[in-house]
Amino acid sequence: MKFRVIAPDGEARAGVIETGRGLIHTPQFIPVGTVGTVKALSPAELREMGAEIILCNTYHLYLRPGEEVIRRLGGVQRFMGWPGPVLTDSGGFQVYSLSRLRRITSDGVEFRSHIDGSLHFVGPERAMKIQQALGADIIMAFDECTPYPATYEYALNSLRLTTEWARRCRAVHREGQALFGIFQGGTYRDLRLRSLEEIVGIGFDGYAAGGLSVGEPKGLMHEMIHFTGPLMPADRPRYLMGIGDLLDVLEAVEAGYDIFDCVMPTRNARNGTLFTSEGRISIKRTEFKEDPSPLDPECGCYTCRSFSRAYLRHLYLSGEILSMRLNTIHNLTFYMRFFRLMREAVLKGEFRGFKERWKKVLERNFNRESS
Ligand SMILES: [Zn+2]
Repeated sequence: MKFRVIAPDGEARAGVIETGRGLIHTPQFIPVGTVGTVKALSPAELREMGAEIILCNTYHLYLRPGEEVIRRLGGVQRFMGWPGPVLTDSGGFQVYSLSRLRRITSDGVEFRSHIDGSLHFVGPERAMKIQQALGADIIMAFDECTPYPATYEYALNSLRLTTEWARRCRAVHREGQALFGIFQGGTYRDLRLRSLEEIVGIGFDGYAAGGLSVGEPKGLMHEMIHFTGPLMPADRPRYLMGIGDLLDVLEAVEAGYDIFDCVMPTRNARNGTLFTSEGRISIKRTEFKEDPSPLDPECGCYTCRSFSRAYLRHLYLSGEILSMRLNTIHNLTFYMRFFRLMREAVLKGEFRGFKERWKKVLERNFNRESS
């Protein structure tokens, strides 16, 4: 994997990550394909809307169908029919958030599967082995995601564990996959700095901020984003994990972060919350019952080219599968376009204006009934 920054604009930057399976233009949004599929979409549709990389969850693929099945079938990209690069997370976050956690020791985490209650143990070496079998282009070190709130002492111990595990991941890392390190530190500036220094000291192909957007107030999250971004190595991709609220993304790109992933556009689509160039829409509202206009006149996606708000509302209220498909096509197209426009703004040195303009749009909820 190679990375180069093309244009800095203040702390913001536009760059390119080169992988064996294609280029990733940054800033870039990574659609989340939890169990090996971006819910409701085909890989061809993802390509068409400009997606360059997909994230898959190690925890889910390890439990089902199992990493060895995927390895024997040629790796995760071939398994899911996606020709581009894939990033797998380490599984750490899901172990804490989804499974029934049993025990954390210095060697790893014992947990019960959320599917069948079976007992599992995953530590740094195991997490790396699973990710090697899955065969993603970018893999993540196994970390402990510090929760919020966490006492200083807890965050410090958690940080030590994350550093120790990062070292062990690095030791068993094999060529052929880029390995990113994750730093923690909770919401304590000195611990964030210390964690980042320790992880950078070990040396990785890219660096990721973990443990943000875990329940802390927005102001505190933005403070951490602006504090950490400029401190991260400038010649490596900077990844802000699990954050995709576009207002947060604007802060993070301003702070120099490059890549993002989040279930927000896809999950919101399935819940009928749609992003448009005029603000957010809840498609189920009565005001759209006979609205013949497209969801977003400025969007060129299949959904907006072909259907009215009235029809989308009807599909949603009827619980039709097509509702999830059309809404997801629109929301992800909106996201990919937003990131493309943001990148162009950075390349032109106009990011500040872009941020101010879009902040106003994103803060607006244009359902008339609610205003
Ligand atoms: Zn659209």
